[in-house]
Amino acid sequence: MTKQCVCITGSTHGIGYAIAEAFAKEGARLVINSHEADTKAAKTLGKMTECHFVQADMSSVSGANTFIENAYGLLGKLDVLVNNAGTFTDVDFDDLEEQMFDRAYNLNVKGYLFAAKAFSAKVKPEQKGASIICIGSTNSLAAEKNSVIYDSSKGAILMLVRSLAISLADRGIRVNGIGPGIVETPLTKLGLDQPGVRAALVAQIPLGVIGKPENIGGAAVFLASSNASYISGQMLYIDGGIIARQLSWDPMP
Ligand code: NAD
Repeated sequence: MTKQCVCITGSTHGIGYAIAEAFAKEGARLVINSHEADTKAAKTLGKMTECHFVQADMSSVSGANTFIENAYGLLGKLDVLVNNAGTFTDVDFDDLEEQMFDRAYNLNVKGYLFAAKAFSAKVKPEQKGASIICIGSTNSLAAEKNSVIYDSSKGAILMLVRSLAISLADRGIRVNGIGPGIVETPLTKLGLDQPGVRAALVAQIPLGVIGKPENIGGAAVFLASSNASYISGQMLYIDGGIIARQLSWDPMP
């Protein structure tokens, strides 16, 4: 069987790295990415499979084009794009500023769209099984206080997935999303380590545990596989049950 050629944005640590690792275990050929130089991730993954690193800032159209052009040049073919590089903004509503909006939307939305555009241009008409996976969030569906920029940027991913799925269907490219709940990564660790925060979050998660990056990797492999060949335009929430929970009528203890 030919190996899948997979490129993953923002994949030197956290969820993106775990997705890369899950594809590496399947023997996929990889290109990983960050805006910063990588000293470790590609070397570690390179012990499992062919893995290249491309430094590119995914918050600009030129960065997105650079990443896809280089990934295609290194692998000679692209089957899967995982749009993962994202950032979080948590600020009091009255302190919101334009540059916070631009920073989050450029990376969380614009980068995803233009990486998808550049990727789809590399997929050959006769190619089978190409797909794009966009990492959204439970915040694509439900809002958090003081998170209006992040929430709305992740809400946009819900429609980006559907819109890309419709626009790229006739090229045989499937597009799906993953919406993680709370996952312990360098992005969330600082917040999780604040006094009382971890316990408060765990109490609200039906499965009673904070997610791990590896909980997301297997789902990405599945969505990119032939087992998912009739799935397009969908978001898969991997959240320990957060989104499923309704208010409880049990009296307070
Ligand atoms: P993280 O900060 O731990 O890792 C982000 C990765 O992206 C790193 O490899 C970083 O180097 C890279 N990156 C950052 N800015 C970049 C840029 N401009 N260009 C290219 N690469 C860049 O983040 P994470 O927690 O692993 O989150 C990954 C994705 O998952 C994000 O889209 C985030 O919104 C989403 N998400 C995370 C959680 C969570 O609880 N951690 C929950 C829901 C959704």
